[in-house]
Amino acid sequence: MKIAIVGAGMAGIATACELASDGHAVTVFERRGAAAEEASFGHAGLVAPACMVGHLGSEAIPVRGWEASPGAWSWRRRQHGSRQAAAGTDARLALARLSQERLRLMAGALELHYQRADGVLVLMRSAKERRRLAPLWEALRGAGLAAHEAGAAAIRTLEPGLNADTPLAGAMHLPGDEVGNCRQFALLLKAEAERHGVIFHFGTTVERVEGGAAPALRLQGHSTPWPCDAVVLCAGTAAPALLRPLGLHLPFATLHGYSVSAPIREPLHAPGSAVVDAGSGATIVRLGDRVRVAGAAHFGNASEAQRKTALQSLYRALHTWFPGAARLVGGLAQEWHGQRLVLPDGRPLLGASGTPGVWLHLAHGGHGWTGACGAARLVADAMAGETPAVPLDAFSAQRFR
Ligand SMILES: Cc1cc2nc3c(=O)[nH]c(=O)nc-3n(C[C@H](O)[C@H](O)[C@H](O)COP(=O)(O)OP(=O)(O)OC[C@H]3O[C@@H](n4cnc5c(N)ncnc54)[C@H](O)[C@@H]3O)c2cc1C
Repeated sequence: MKIAIVGAGMAGIATACELASDGHAVTVFERRGAAAEEASFGHAGLVAPACMVGHLGSEAIPVRGWEASPGAWSWRRRQHGSRQAAAGTDARLALARLSQERLRLMAGALELHYQRADGVLVLMRSAKERRRLAPLWEALRGAGLAAHEAGAAAIRTLEPGLNADTPLAGAMHLPGDEVGNCRQFALLLKAEAERHGVIFHFGTTVERVEGGAAPALRLQGHSTPWPCDAVVLCAGTAAPALLRPLGLHLPFATLHGYSVSAPIREPLHAPGSAVVDAGSGATIVRLGDRVRVAGAAHFGNASEAQRKTALQSLYRALHTWFPGAARLVGGLAQEWHGQRLVLPDGRPLLGASGTPGVWLHLAHGGHGWTGACGAARLVADAMAGETPAVPLDAFSAQRFR
């Protein structure tokens, strides 16, 4: 088939690779000048199946004050009231496991190096936090995931740079989770995709997607449509606007977040892999010779002052746990504001759209790096008429009808 993909983030590139390896002629259209410039650019980098069972990181604690916006509340009410939210945990976990497996497989087979490191340490500052998270550790173990309580000596061994002066009530080690540089992986995979014949058109905005018997894309600045046999929509936060003309109105929300990345000043003081501050929701990771701290989630647009507050909370978390680890002055710190598309049940939207010829790989929320490689394979299988390794019902657009 001649297949068009809209969007060259992690989802689009992984999907392009899978479809090309199935023998399809794949073309990717991306409005930006390069791949992985939006949500896949500067996020925390966790590949964390554990996050599918319960929130550990940046979505746990939205920045105070912003939760009050009516849109945020109605979205959250739907989330908490959703029956599927509980029922979908198994499906999300199955997707994350498959995805981690495929990520490792691809990275190994193609010798892709993307600054990965094993293990996540969740830091609990108070007895209250420990009590709050106790059911989560039970749930993780119940789901067959490794979660080991780490004592003081183990914490020192795992993360010798951790600030010994910051009080700690406990820590949980998740050895099966990992961290890696998503953007770097996406760029390496894009190069592989090109070697397998995938064509990328950058600086090309898709204005409209047409389905039916003759699928096509309407491209900005082009008077004639771009015909194809199928379209896969991997357009991140821009997807709802492309779906509305197709009659697909789903309860999407955009969740904002931030990160700060900076060169390591003193390797002995920097994280070895990844830690999550359970209280603030901040995630602090090492990516090669840089430290990154990410978090501060909120719905809706923020004022300049609120953005500043969010970034300050990240600098504070970094200073609390790894003081002196990074070179933050002299313009070396890179601040990033990212947006990810989410649905009330936290599950992505994968598979058939309901419009013939139009397929979806969207709305991974805070877990698109964790889920993209597996989701790409599932979508490719569905497009080939094969039974996907993880049933797509839990991720279909139909679940909101
Ligand atoms: C602060 C923060 C922390 C996060 N931490 C993690 C984490 O630790 N682990 C994890 O797994 N996930 C994490 N995420 C989530 C992750 O970033 C996303 O789920 C993932 O990057 C989504 O990838 P995507 O390809 O769907 O979207 P994007 O990367 O946004 O790609 C969509 C692409 O489509 C393009 N596009 C859109 N519209 C058009 C159009 N009309 N025409 C052409 N091109 C178009 C865009 O330019 C963009 O390049 C985090 C996100 C944030 C914001």
